[in-house]
Amino acid sequence: MNNIESKRKIGFYIRVSTERQAKVVEGSLKNQKQMLLAEVNKRNLLNKSWGELIEVYVDEGISGKDINRPAFQKMLKDIEIEKIDTIMFTELSRLSRSLKDFLNIFEFTQKYNCDLICLKTDIDTTSPYKNLITKILMVFGEFEREMTSQRTSINAYERSKRGLANGGAAPLGYYRDKKKKGYLLIDKKESGIVLEIFKTYIKEKSIQRTTEAIKSKYADSNSGLKKINKSRIYSILTNKSYIGVREIYKKDKSKYEEVKAVWNGIIDEKLFRRAENLLKANKERLHWRNSGRFNYLLSGLMMCGKCGEKLQGKCAYSRINKKHYYYSHKNTCKDSGISGIDAEVTHKLVFDWLDEISNNGDRFNQLKTEGKIRIRKKIDFLNTAIEKLKAEKKALVKEIEARLNELTNTKSEIVKNTIEESIIKLNQSKKDIEDKNIYIRHEIDRLEKLIQGDNNLFGEYSDRIKSIFRPPNNGTKDKLREVISYIKLDDKNVNIALSAVNLKEPVSELFVSTPRAGLEPATR
Ligand SMILES: [Zn+2]
Repeated sequence: MNNIESKRKIGFYIRVSTERQAKVVEGSLKNQKQMLLAEVNKRNLLNKSWGELIEVYVDEGISGKDINRPAFQKMLKDIEIEKIDTIMFTELSRLSRSLKDFLNIFEFTQKYNCDLICLKTDIDTTSPYKNLITKILMVFGEFEREMTSQRTSINAYERSKRGLANGGAAPLGYYRDKKKKGYLLIDKKESGIVLEIFKTYIKEKSIQRTTEAIKSKYADSNSGLKKINKSRIYSILTNKSYIGVREIYKKDKSKYEEVKAVWNGIIDEKLFRRAENLLKANKERLHWRNSGRFNYLLSGLMMCGKCGEKLQGKCAYSRINKKHYYYSHKNTCKDSGISGIDAEVTHKLVFDWLDEISNNGDRFNQLKTEGKIRIRKKIDFLNTAIEKLKAEKKALVKEIEARLNELTNTKSEIVKNTIEESIIKLNQSKKDIEDKNIYIRHEIDRLEKLIQGDNNLFGEYSDRIKSIFRPPNNGTKDKLREVISYIKLDDKNVNIALSAVNLKEPVSELFVSTPRAGLEPATR
């Protein structure tokens, strides 16, 4: 091996989570990069040809709470194909904010003999005792971060355990006791409306009708009911504050608790339970749209088919002041793709298609067969590419040999230098070809795996898809992500690609389908 090849292949990992953070000089993108570059230069001074920067991976505006980050994922792939063998980052929190994730990352990098170098915490797996030091420091780092966020939440948690209300607006029917923090007092007029909402719901047995009834009665009055919509009514009907119960961690089932509140209820417990049972019975009919603000269930999955950019959930008002929801392009597409698409229409389209595919084994298997043919073609193409690379490499090796010959036969120092330079360049090209080769082989492997071992894929998918639409409706987004690998918009179509059952191996290519053509692009 020559020097070029024994050099470390370094990847910088840089993450900036929010705009504000980016402005703090210490953590800014540019600053992180400079610090890392300085470290590389320093080490190269101490140890000639210590390493060479291959790629900078930047996740901008993304939190480190999980590893669902585009550049991070790309980095993992590059480690796998041995494009890089050393990751450098300024501090642990850039790489991961969770110990569990970090240990997984650590294990992964160990597997591929990739070293981690962290500037601030002095973690350096290139030095001895690597496992121990890294892990211990990590535990401390995690602990410290936890502590900071816990200090604030412990306080709030303790208050809620005592049955006290937290900050924010008081629920309809109550107002805050100015003398006693966390206490609520009953507003006579408003509490009458709350009672009426419960009674109307019991009578009408429908959120829609309850909403309409309450709206027609109170919309214009000075009642405190400013915004009346289905989700507001729903949250009132499910709010246990009205029976004097303080709910803790309402949105997190694993932590959920109920304690007696310090305030008095407005609704008789029997009435509340009747409404609760009715809601449960009607839950299946409660569409996702009713649960709070508009849920962009497909965000992160929607992509522009022209340029590949992810489309973002956005809302806009029409001329008659009606709210419309879109998945739209950040800016105008540089490849003249569609600027946006109506989110509700898209949801219906995608859900109908999923529904159909989960009930139609023939159609599913047909798509699978088509997908397999596509993958076959791709593998063939890649194999040809490998042949080409082989020929190119052969030519390069010949060229290098010829230059080496020249070198031994040359006396002039100047000529020698030029020849050496060209050999270095040729070697680099050779290495590039080898890299490409590794990458392509890896891709072929992946594709080969995709078209094997898919017995009863339909059964598994069908179950997964059906579970998306079964209540409870929480986790719908995650469930969708497990089933769909992407949704691409082109001029006319919404193209859905299903992912594999084994999530580590997306089979997006396997099931590309066009559910329906002729969608009108949304106008903004
Ligand atoms: Zn685009």
